[in-house]
Amino acid sequence: MLFTAVFLFAVLGVILLIDILLARRRLNLAVRILVAFAIGIGFGLLYREVPALTIEGLQAIYGPFRELFLRLLRMIIIPLIVSSMVAAVASLGTFRKLGSLSWKTAVYYFTTTGLSVLTGIILVNLIRPGVGVTITAKEIPERLAGKEQGILDVLINMVPRNPVEAMANMDVLAVIFFSLLFGIGILAVGKEGIGLRHFFEEAFQVMMKITFWIIQLAPIGIFTLITLLIATQGMDAIKALPLYMGTVLLGLAIHAAITLPIFLYSASREKPHIYASKMFSPLTMAFSTASSAATLPLTMATVWRRTRVPKRVSNFVLQIGATINMDGTALYEAVAAIFIAQAYGIQLSLGDQVIIFVTATLAAVGAAAVPEAGLVTMAIVLSAVGIPLEGIAIILGVDAILDRFRTSVNVWGDTVGCSVVHAWEGGEDELAEAAADPD
Ligand code: ASP
Repeated sequence: MLFTAVFLFAVLGVILLIDILLARRRLNLAVRILVAFAIGIGFGLLYREVPALTIEGLQAIYGPFRELFLRLLRMIIIPLIVSSMVAAVASLGTFRKLGSLSWKTAVYYFTTTGLSVLTGIILVNLIRPGVGVTITAKEIPERLAGKEQGILDVLINMVPRNPVEAMANMDVLAVIFFSLLFGIGILAVGKEGIGLRHFFEEAFQVMMKITFWIIQLAPIGIFTLITLLIATQGMDAIKALPLYMGTVLLGLAIHAAITLPIFLYSASREKPHIYASKMFSPLTMAFSTASSAATLPLTMATVWRRTRVPKRVSNFVLQIGATINMDGTALYEAVAAIFIAQAYGIQLSLGDQVIIFVTATLAAVGAAAVPEAGLVTMAIVLSAVGIPLEGIAIILGVDAILDRFRTSVNVWGDTVGCSVVHAWEGGEDELAEAAADPD
């Protein structure tokens, strides 16, 4: 154990040193993250090969670093959401502007999510990955039992019973709802609300500053996350249920590389591959954390810094999008539900498939932006068409790995949305203010 500890600390020291050197050479955060990510994969694979090094040791030494990094990210989410959402709405100036921004954002969310689900449904019907799969597990896993909530619950829960409680529980949708309302209230009182508006704008500046500090730690954080993932799971997870995984991944790839880029280019004339390279840091972070919420601070910071989308638009689109606009999750829910039905030999009618289309879209809206949330809301889709909930057990083993891919697509959809909605809003060339950021 002592040997493992000394070795792991030494490796961490070297990574830190490399990162500091890269940062001093003014290489941007995306490059630093890429280096950390690549070393993490290589090191994780190597680690498994050395018998003297134990997985427990790795978890004991790198676990706290991972935890610290994730805690810092979580710490900033609520203050960042409240200050930026209130400031964004209050500084829109008029209700008309708020209305136009809201409906354009909603149109973007629902058309892209709908197309994503459609892609999934078409693929799973063509490939039929569930045919011939035998179902062995019959129990609903304990962590999922009793968690199913209806669509109506999702909508009702958006309204917090108590805003402070919602903040304490990190109930992001409810916090957004209250912050939106608060911002609208400031708009409504006009001159009387100017002091409050300034207060939230200034609080937002401070939160941005803290966010920039935290994300400087992203390379080290991602290194520990990826090393732990690869060393503990290796590539084994990927080998199970290959056809099912292939269908989900193909659907995600089509949506991310074809559908969303068409929106991006036709609305804003942005070249998709360049835009994607600018968004590299949040995409990697989404993959590493499997959480859109944990990625949100970095997503916001990257869009502020690297695009021309004004903050009032990007903050609005990204924050609401992080929990509502989950294209990857929606696609996965539809594919998984139909896969399970195929495995049980259940014939789904066209009507059933339409129900799956609608419920998968809504279940993704209801999924929290945390790891494997989509697995929980899948109960909504399954029960809507009478597929046994126990079926979830079949896909459990590969869910953690798929989660990373769908979370990356969720985040990609949000960042594309910023540019699209900004273009639909007239796209005036307002340079994102370069906040005091070394990158
Ligand atoms: N992990 C996903 C996210 O945070 C949600 C899910 O599909 O489980 O975006």
